[in-house]
Amino acid sequence: MTGRFLTFLALFALFGLGCAHPAGHAEVSQTVHADRDAVFLDATAKWTDSPFILAKGDAVDISAIGWVRDRLPSNASETAALWSDPAGTYLVPTAHDGSSDPLPSGSHGPAPAMALVARIGDGQPFLVGRRAGIRAATSGRLQFRVNDSIPDDNAGHFSIHVDRVTAPSPMGHETVLTAPARTLAPPSPAKRVLIFYIDGLRADVVREMALTGHLPTIHRLFVEGGSWLQNTTTVFPSSTLTANGSMWTGCFPDRHGLTSMIRFDRRTQTSQSHLSTLGPVRAAESLRPVGILGLASTANESIHSAVGASVPESASEDVATPLYTLLNRQGTDWATGVLPIMPHLTPPLWSRSLLRHLPFLRADKAWQHFDDANTTYALRHLVDLQRPVTVIWLPETDSVSHTCGRGQFGATRQTLAQADILIGSVVDHLDRRGQLDDTVLMLVSDHGHHGGRHQPLKHFDVAHEVFFRTRTVSQDHHWLSGGLGLSVHQHQSISRHPHDKHFVFVDSIPDGTCRIYLPRSDYRSQDWTSSARPADLLNYRISDHLPPINLIQRLITAQAEGPDDNPVDMALVRNTPDSLLLISRTRGAAVITRRRDSQRRHLFRYQVVNNLGPAPDGSIAWKAVTRPTVDPLHLVTHASTEFLAREHDEQSWLTVMKDSQYPDAVVSLARSMLWVPSIDSTARHHAPDIVLTASRGWYFGKKPTAGTMHGHPLRDAMLSTWFVSGRGIRKNTRITTPCRLTDLTPTILDCLGRLPVDQRFDGRPIRQFHETTTPAPKPSPITRADVLLTDWSAIETSHRPSAEELPRTVNAPHSPSDVNTVIHNVASLPSWNPMRLFDDLLHGPHAAGVTSGLEQAEDTARTRLPGRWHSTPGVFRLSDLAFSDYNPTSDGNLFRIDRLVDSLQSASGDRPADQAVGSRPGPLAPLHRMIDGLQTLRLEISNSGQRILVEAVDDSLAGWLESVADLVINTDHRVPAEIVVPLDAEVVRQASRTRSPEPAAP
Ligand SMILES: [Zn+2]
Repeated sequence: MTGRFLTFLALFALFGLGCAHPAGHAEVSQTVHADRDAVFLDATAKWTDSPFILAKGDAVDISAIGWVRDRLPSNASETAALWSDPAGTYLVPTAHDGSSDPLPSGSHGPAPAMALVARIGDGQPFLVGRRAGIRAATSGRLQFRVNDSIPDDNAGHFSIHVDRVTAPSPMGHETVLTAPARTLAPPSPAKRVLIFYIDGLRADVVREMALTGHLPTIHRLFVEGGSWLQNTTTVFPSSTLTANGSMWTGCFPDRHGLTSMIRFDRRTQTSQSHLSTLGPVRAAESLRPVGILGLASTANESIHSAVGASVPESASEDVATPLYTLLNRQGTDWATGVLPIMPHLTPPLWSRSLLRHLPFLRADKAWQHFDDANTTYALRHLVDLQRPVTVIWLPETDSVSHTCGRGQFGATRQTLAQADILIGSVVDHLDRRGQLDDTVLMLVSDHGHHGGRHQPLKHFDVAHEVFFRTRTVSQDHHWLSGGLGLSVHQHQSISRHPHDKHFVFVDSIPDGTCRIYLPRSDYRSQDWTSSARPADLLNYRISDHLPPINLIQRLITAQAEGPDDNPVDMALVRNTPDSLLLISRTRGAAVITRRRDSQRRHLFRYQVVNNLGPAPDGSIAWKAVTRPTVDPLHLVTHASTEFLAREHDEQSWLTVMKDSQYPDAVVSLARSMLWVPSIDSTARHHAPDIVLTASRGWYFGKKPTAGTMHGHPLRDAMLSTWFVSGRGIRKNTRITTPCRLTDLTPTILDCLGRLPVDQRFDGRPIRQFHETTTPAPKPSPITRADVLLTDWSAIETSHRPSAEELPRTVNAPHSPSDVNTVIHNVASLPSWNPMRLFDDLLHGPHAAGVTSGLEQAEDTARTRLPGRWHSTPGVFRLSDLAFSDYNPTSDGNLFRIDRLVDSLQSASGDRPADQAVGSRPGPLAPLHRMIDGLQTLRLEISNSGQRILVEAVDDSLAGWLESVADLVINTDHRVPAEIVVPLDAEVVRQASRTRSPEPAAP
């Protein structure tokens, strides 16, 4: 982490001015300097008395200025970046352990280190920062301190000014827009949309950090300078791949079919992961043919459109078409670095941008450098391309949230502060190029994160604890305790009982959902031809001598430790092609039915049901409850009886569930579990029999984590971020009208004036954030309670250990000795930059040497180039040189030739890819189109070659080596499926009643 911090110190020095002097700072300093009564707080002092004694209910406004720093790190010299103002900082050196700070910081809590904090008497400390309007909760003397447990070694001071007021001042003002009364007109088209996609970002955390001064760029651009779509929900499951499927197609998962990170195939009984190197391409493939096949289909479409014929419909109007294909049809493309869904393996030269940040031969650490790599790549190769859509994915927020203390209420805040700097570097570049005026900027996330705020998360291993664990049965064949004693396959892991060749497949990467695949009707049938019939799940046979079990009941009543530890919230079962069953432990069951009306709109009904039992047709029969008092989604208390009595369209459900604990659940659960006929053939092979969702405070996984999770249909995980700013966008506005991530693609195209009329999206273009001539409502005050999310206290981390009987494995993705890591390291050798290697050898890693000097010179030269030569920089970038470039036909050299051709094309004018929408093609257009086509063909051929190599080595060979090694190290690892107690069930029950109560068998 130290290396990483040093990299950022350099960046901080570049952008530090912007951070250190945010908008409000100048005003504060004037007030305080004019006042001689300022309280002086030395940074080395512990709690310091102020002259102010407050009674309960008194209101004061506090403001402060000054600079402090923590102890100088042993290897660093004094720099401006080490100092922070009263707002404090999240960019602390790793040596600062925030566990015993007055307000826990770092990986222990959400507070900024070195911030100004206060307390009244001996009361709870609270955050002041640069300014705060407070109403005293207790009586006593107002005291101040720097948020640091050991202040003795600090330097600097704060000057604090306290004003007694009648009511505490708000944190600011903002315009609040509710649902528009009428349909809004399309906006005037922007030239480009630039999307910063921060994975897993919680919008409430963005707002808190921005308004307390820790995300200066995001605050300036998006909070103060843009509109926030506060009620944006993602799709179910709230996971990266599913959300990306919907973000970039504008369709629900029932149309794109990307419903999990692991893809189990019933036909082959094998699984593939979308988290592997090939994952993003496989995801794109399942949407549409890619590579040479994709090229053929695009060529087919182009020929049809050239001769004026209509393109033959591939299957039905339900097919989900990705954004890049829609842009391709308009003769252009999107520009992206690495994304969870990509039509190409990795963009050309992307690995060189990663290697600029990654220590040599440390591919295992790549996940900690993705934000830098994608930003560097965007700065070098994307933003100057002037494509209509540019996407920059910053995935570290999500990966750090998953693994480090308290997620976005702890360690991840440092990652966010760094992401803000990266966003600033891209926006500054556009600004210098004079391109900001034509650009709409968006800040989005694919999902939220659950946990870390009030409670730590606990893990529950469904595969092991419910399915694999040895079952204890009585002599008279009754299940007594333990698991089901079944062998379990998971992705890259097998838990097998001795002499058992049967298995169930459980897809449970650490996540808020878990998917279960079963052989049809009987565990021992190993009939994987189609999914189990729903009725079989109520009477599932696992052994000859045991009665069939109610598997659903068994799963939802699973207990972790005691009767109050219920990790499973709901079981979801697709009951018929148009109905979905939701079954919970204590809140009963419900059924969601779906129907299409004459305009092909979906209508949904939610009914509370009971008396579940097998129906003759293989489905589960139910009886509607007439006057329900509880239901799985808490809708009986949330919506009126009249509303629940009828079916409604998607928009009505979205509005009604806006403030629910399960936002948009009726539509999002149904449109994830019930698929449309056009993906039927794929869904049948990949859809699970049962989907489990984790209860509040839980996730499904093998190991404990100090971090947070998503995947659940719960509010924290379902709410995602969407801010918009730029040309013609309302400033300082919060929009409460609910919307979905399926609206993203239609909205992007709408902003560009490129919304195709014949494309059927599930989403709709959002237009409320565009400025209109109608005056906006009067700004409302933003209160402290609206913004600050936390009670600042520390929370205990869960220490539930992993099960002891788990199979051993050599697969360790983030370890330097993992097979894939070794392969990636070897594969990176040709992409090494000789100049950086020279720098590192000469000056040691992280030192500024020849490379950084060269990069700066290149950047300066580039900003001076006129617009139509925008592609040229890629040609002459010496800092992108690699060892492999000694070969004239290396990827790097071919890429340079491509960029040179692009430049010449742009300079000659008439190039269709550069044309704005609706402009007339020039005489050279056919020639340009032909050149573009040849370039694409070359790229596709080289991609297909790479793809075959990666598939053979990184995927198949590495997978095979690991599974053989796993088999060998697990030979002595034998856990019996069943233990028979030499007593009958009644005796055991009697005996156990006198001791502790055992969970009864369902
Ligand atoms: Zn994600």
